[in-house]
Amino acid sequence: MTEATDCVFCKIVQGKIPSVKVAEDAQTLIFMDIQPASPGHTLVIPKTHAANLMEITEADLFAVTKTVQRLARAIRSALAPDGIRIVQTNGAAAGQTVLHYHVHLIPMQEGQRIGTHGRAPAKSEELKALAERIRDALGA
Ligand code: AMP
Ligand code: ZN
Repeated sequence: MTEATDCVFCKIVQGKIPSVKVAEDAQTLIFMDIQPASPGHTLVIPKTHAANLMEITEADLFAVTKTVQRLARAIRSALAPDGIRIVQTNGAAAGQTVLHYHVHLIPMQEGQRIGTHGRAPAKSEELKALAERIRDALGA
């Protein structure tokens, strides 16, 4: 399946709903999480719809994983966090709220609460400024 009609991340790929994009390539897209657990919280998705780790094709899984590594290096260089938490959820019981495969990259500071979601939506201007810093570090 290349898209799912009710999928919010497919709509982001298609530009049907707004998002703060960081970078993209033929198979993957990086954008800012709208409700960040910390500044710089980003998501990597395959452009082709797959609900979860069990459904994603091996080619897309490889492409997403390569993008995750590139992005982790860019976040380290742009934001210098103490660590980066990588989270990937499968099924509602695991905390998955959007049923399109995605990997969270969450910059972490020493002593920061471990959580996957922020409590409130971030301001679009703040997300755009962080996206630009990360994009510069990606060389995208
Ligand atoms: P999960 O709970 O692993 O399914 O994570 C889904 C993530 O997608 C959450 O962290 C949400 O804040 C984020 N999210 C949902 N809708 C949007 C959107 N339209 N733009 C950006 N991030 C979103
Ligand atoms: Zn989708």
